[in-house]
Amino acid sequence: MMVTRDHLVRHPDRCTHKAVCIPVCPTGAWLSTPPYKFDESRCMETCRICLDACPSQAIYGVFRKGEKLLVPQPE
Ligand code: SF4
Repeated sequence: MMVTRDHLVRHPDRCTHKAVCIPVCPTGAWLSTPPYKFDESRCMETCRICLDACPSQAIYGVFRKGEKLLVPQPE
């Protein structure tokens, strides 16, 4: 069964609110007004610009395998 990226999450404890992810996104998927929600309909599944740009690695992907969401477990 194929695994696909379902959506992205900004980890609230890691995010330093420097908003690096907002200007780097080519599609404006990270909304620039509080509470800085993520519009998954704008995100390109194969892109990872904001994940790589975040200096505190606060953004992570939640993947889907069939009906099941694969949420990363905290370290
Ligand atoms: S992965 Fe790419 S398209 Fe999706 S939110 Fe991040 S920068 Fe924007």
